[in-house]
Amino acid sequence: MSFNSLGLSDPLLKAIQKKGYTTPSPIQEKCIPIVLQGKDVLASAQTGTGKTAGFTLPLLQLLAGEQTPQKRPIRALVLTPTRELAAQILENVREYSTFLKIKSTVIFGGVKQGPQVNTLRNGVDVLIATPGRLLDLQDQGLLSLKDVEVLVLDEADRMLDMGFLRDIKKVLALVPQKRQNLLFSATFSKEIKKLANGFLNNPVLVEATPENTTAEKVNQKIYHVDKVKKRAIIIAMIKEGNWQQALVFTRTKHGANKLCEKMQKAGITAAAIHGNKTQGARTKALAGFKEGSIRILVATDIAARGIDIPLLPHVVNFELPNVPEDYVHRIGRTGRAGANGIAISLVSHEEADYLRDIEKLLKQSLPTGIIEGFEQGPAPEIDPNANKQQNRNHRKPRNKNGGGNWNRNKNKNSGNRNKNSNRRSDNN
Ligand code: AMP
Repeated sequence: MSFNSLGLSDPLLKAIQKKGYTTPSPIQEKCIPIVLQGKDVLASAQTGTGKTAGFTLPLLQLLAGEQTPQKRPIRALVLTPTRELAAQILENVREYSTFLKIKSTVIFGGVKQGPQVNTLRNGVDVLIATPGRLLDLQDQGLLSLKDVEVLVLDEADRMLDMGFLRDIKKVLALVPQKRQNLLFSATFSKEIKKLANGFLNNPVLVEATPENTTAEKVNQKIYHVDKVKKRAIIIAMIKEGNWQQALVFTRTKHGANKLCEKMQKAGITAAAIHGNKTQGARTKALAGFKEGSIRILVATDIAARGIDIPLLPHVVNFELPNVPEDYVHRIGRTGRAGANGIAISLVSHEEADYLRDIEKLLKQSLPTGIIEGFEQGPAPEIDPNANKQQNRNHRKPRNKNGGGNWNRNKNKNSGNRNKNSNRRSDNN
């Protein structure tokens, strides 16, 4: 299958060629013709599948095929959960519309609104936005959504995870009734299905499993270590292995900062990225990491979501996530595009339960290794009842339904996630 057979116009084919894509990804093959027909789409896809081009290319073609209204009202709105993802989508939209007369921009919080408002005033066809800033500007009468023809909800499950349901509903009330809707979500929980039923019109279901999330492609290793030695261990690993690029996950924002400081003191260029960082700091850290001036990016789960960093050789779980599905998402950051990646987890006695949950989800026990000089000491003596109590407090009960089964377990390791923000112990 080639892009030529999908019904895309010459300016778009030229842009695709310029990007260097030769064949459409499965989601693009399925999605592009359907969107071009003006139909609603409910797609199961996550970052790494090429989904952005899957909705952007046909959307641009639809807009370009119409006569551009003189004042350029917002005709397509893409809602995304995070600023990073929003910025990334804009980059893609701009690249794909290189040979079209389409204007696009992005708005998100954490930065001054002035420049965003000025751009909007000049007129844009495609607006990519995070819900908070969008509604803020709308409340101030600085933008109008009454001419939106295509609405895209990208990473809808993450938007719900992050508590944006109310905002999404508000946006739905502001756009015209008659419009095309595209919903992308990595998972299909009850909440997502409910949301989808509420506003999609006879949607065509599209499924795609990302190449990069299958755990089989990733060389996983568990090291049982003492909690207090973790910082020294990871620094030694980076130095001895001469790692040039690694993404390191911590469970908390504070933990990310602390680890980053230690690495910097050890002479390793590192940056932390999490919800408490300013947008400027997050953008700078990500840009530095992508171009190689920053070797180690220390991130919390939420901050790292949706970030597209191709060919990451190492992912490290400095701490295991307490939501087992997050492990799969984390390790999906390595081994991208068919390359082999290494996912290392430093597991202390305190995290034994988390490891058990992850292995249960993956239906396999993960290979373990020993780091010479950092062998784990005996488990600290704890009152077993106190431990039970602590664990009980730390975790929220599982959803007995086991999550949505919409994608029939096609991607065994990452599907079936019934996410719910309450399950996360820290709003990172
Ligand atoms: P996405 O899932 O949209 O975030 O895309 C993941 C990555 O795949 C991005 O770096 C895209 O530039 C790249 N990509 C998208 N479509 C294709 C394609 N057809 N061929 C090669 N790379 C692609």
